[in-house]
Amino acid sequence: MGAKYIFVVGGVLSGLGKGIVTSSIGKLLQSYGYKVTAIKIDPYINLDAGTMRPTEHGEVWVTEDGGEIDQDLGNYERFLNKNLPKRNNITTGQIYLAVINRERELGYKGKNAEVVPDIINEIKDRIRAVEEDNDFVLVEIGGTTGDIQNEVFLYAARELGRETPSVYILVTYIPFLKNVGELKTKPTQHAAALLRETGIMPDFIVTRSERRIDEPRKDKISKLCFIDKGNVIEDPDSETIYEVPLIFKEQNFGKKILEKFGLNPKKDDLKKWAHLLENMKNADKVVKIGVVGKYVAYGDSEHKDVYISVLEAIRHACAHLKVKPLIEQIQSTKIEEQGTEILKKYDGIVVPGGFGKMGTEGIIETIKYCRENNVPFLGLCYGLQMAVIEFARNVCGMRGANTTENDPDTKYPVIDFMPEQKELIKLKQYGATMRLGAYPAVLKEGTKVRELYGKEFVSERHRHRYEVNPEFIEKLEEKGLLFSGKSPDKKLMEFLELPNHRFFIATQAHPEFHSRFENPAPLFVGLIKASLEMPHQTVLKHE
Ligand code: GLN
Repeated sequence: MGAKYIFVVGGVLSGLGKGIVTSSIGKLLQSYGYKVTAIKIDPYINLDAGTMRPTEHGEVWVTEDGGEIDQDLGNYERFLNKNLPKRNNITTGQIYLAVINRERELGYKGKNAEVVPDIINEIKDRIRAVEEDNDFVLVEIGGTTGDIQNEVFLYAARELGRETPSVYILVTYIPFLKNVGELKTKPTQHAAALLRETGIMPDFIVTRSERRIDEPRKDKISKLCFIDKGNVIEDPDSETIYEVPLIFKEQNFGKKILEKFGLNPKKDDLKKWAHLLENMKNADKVVKIGVVGKYVAYGDSEHKDVYISVLEAIRHACAHLKVKPLIEQIQSTKIEEQGTEILKKYDGIVVPGGFGKMGTEGIIETIKYCRENNVPFLGLCYGLQMAVIEFARNVCGMRGANTTENDPDTKYPVIDFMPEQKELIKLKQYGATMRLGAYPAVLKEGTKVRELYGKEFVSERHRHRYEVNPEFIEKLEEKGLLFSGKSPDKKLMEFLELPNHRFFIATQAHPEFHSRFENPAPLFVGLIKASLEMPHQTVLKHE
């Protein structure tokens, strides 16, 4: 029996958290004993998110198989607690490219290639391709109803619904108008009408709003959008995104979806999730974590989602340890201007990934501060590279040590391309120089990293070009830097640590991509535990 489809589409405006709605529905269906996967459709022309600028589009999510994807896939993985491959992200560019390539290869046997049926068929085939042994495929269609660019996807969604049991969910926004003191349903009515124009009748309407929707408003939505009142599902703002599955459960949303398919729950188990949520709410202590990165500033405001997986990984670790995280992002150029004084209030520091020179001196200063003051430090990718540079300059006396990414002529290129990569660059095969996706590492016995992972062999996701230069490893190790994890052929340095430090660990990988609400990443748990040992701990008292 093939999978059933649940399409999630947006109305009124974007940025409502459709991804969280989709993930939460998936979590509920999982808790009822069903196998679930999720697809994100991005109607943009780009083939993937690889070329997008972090300051404009936020974080790029990396999949196990090396896909560079929109962040929504990250939410699915964090909620569903499973790896999703890159094919679970579909873009307009991929669809058209496939059809055009097929046309060039005479795949249409001399006939015209058309939007209907060829583009539509390509979309349908790609959605069907991810079914595998899942009971449900959740398909989130980016953008909002009425957008020109998601028309073909809605068309395909409608067709799939004629062939396969499907449910359609419209996520809309209910604004609260202060001057009249009222929640307004009109935009939702329009969004539902626009969706009906595509031939899709929503089965459920999820109402995003600042506050709960009262009965008269639910009545109105029900009558004017032609759906049962019980199928208007509230989704008011909540303290944490991890609360949403429980908000939906309260309203029997998962069970109502199952009912539409004529199914019953096989079990009902959301205990672990609920327990972690309780931990978050009843935390005993507060831990202050500073995330020092180069992409924090955004005009006068700050980017909320450029390090989203890092922030979530901190939250996951804290939920497990029953600690409340206070996370602040600090633009690294601010350290260059104001010094490390502003870091004193943090119990722990994370340096996330990045590309290019801007702000790196501030990052190096930050790492020096952590190293010299026994402040817990976790470096991720660029964070590891900057830690090596800092150590080379300030402990090994290699003045001007750098990565060739930022200083191609440095006397001490402690971070550089590997010799094999240099060959590829000569051949102009730049694409092949990026290490993308999951790679294995072997952890050295007796190290902190090994202790945290609790095993010898680990695999983490990567997204970078440069590596620790093998020529300098001996010199760095002589002075006390310990490479606690290497690639199986021992050529690539994957983890480092300072043995006599409270917690000074960095990795060439991005362990934040493996962190899930129910399964936190070991290095983050280690960081939070170490941060709790810092002197200025705030203890929370509960009634
Ligand atoms: N810019 C560095 C490299 O390409 C680090 C990349 C990252 O932090 N993701 O190797």
